[in-house]
Amino acid sequence: MTCEPVASLILEGDSLETNHSPEETTIINLDLKVYDETLKGQLFVADRPAELADVVPVARSLSDEIARRTIKYAKRTGRNIPCEKGCAACCRYLVPVSAPEAFRIWDEIQAIKPEEQRDVLSAFVNASQRILDAGRPPTPQGRVASGENPQQATDAINRWYAGIDVNCPFLEHEACTIYPLRPIACREHMVSSSAEHCLPANDNQVQLIEPPFSVVEALGRLAGEAEDLGVESVMLPFAPSWRQINHERARRTWPAPALFECFAAIIHDLSARRRLAAA
Ligand code: SF4
Repeated sequence: MTCEPVASLILEGDSLETNHSPEETTIINLDLKVYDETLKGQLFVADRPAELADVVPVARSLSDEIARRTIKYAKRTGRNIPCEKGCAACCRYLVPVSAPEAFRIWDEIQAIKPEEQRDVLSAFVNASQRILDAGRPPTPQGRVASGENPQQATDAINRWYAGIDVNCPFLEHEACTIYPLRPIACREHMVSSSAEHCLPANDNQVQLIEPPFSVVEALGRLAGEAEDLGVESVMLPFAPSWRQINHERARRTWPAPALFECFAAIIHDLSARRRLAAA
């Protein structure tokens, strides 16, 4: 992870403020369908090497903008979304983290004060131990049983995880301690049912709001394509240990414009597929 941001997302109507001078910047256009609106913006990408973790800040900004439009759209269509800062009802569910996010989260943990870092890492160890003590999930390593579709497999793992009752390592006194840096899955998780239905005992009454496309899925695909591996995701409590095992991968670099062009292409593809499925 480099200190200066490698890229900035400027949305249509935002003032143009980037750290990159025009001669060393590649501009990538975004033109995405988000419900009944078009989200237009530009990525300003510095012409230098970048790690997968460097894509995460832009992905978070994009995810926040999509969440903002999701709330607006839900209100326009007569639904209320109770999710807001301060509600931690879903912070005991499985949070899937893409490889770039696992790399980034580790770097961000390294940046906090050593005395606080010790507490954070110990919360991760405790949560990981609790998961390991619970035994194997219903579909180990994401394998899908015959006759089961991938969504059924995901639902089964989510139910299994909710049953273990593991607090997120970043949850303290019912508040997220890293709210601005929280994983994209947390930003994409929204419901239109009331918060009490999000408690694991009541989860069959949750009404989820589907995002127009998933930015966490895009990050997973980006890593898979850049490294020529399959798409991976890690349970949040295992992210630091997984990152340690994959140290070399975390430090690998690509030309930033190529990496961000690939990310933008995946986002456009996901948006187009969702539009086609809804047509
Ligand atoms: S990272 Fe924050 S918002 Fe996400 S599950 Fe953990 S405590 Fe909740």
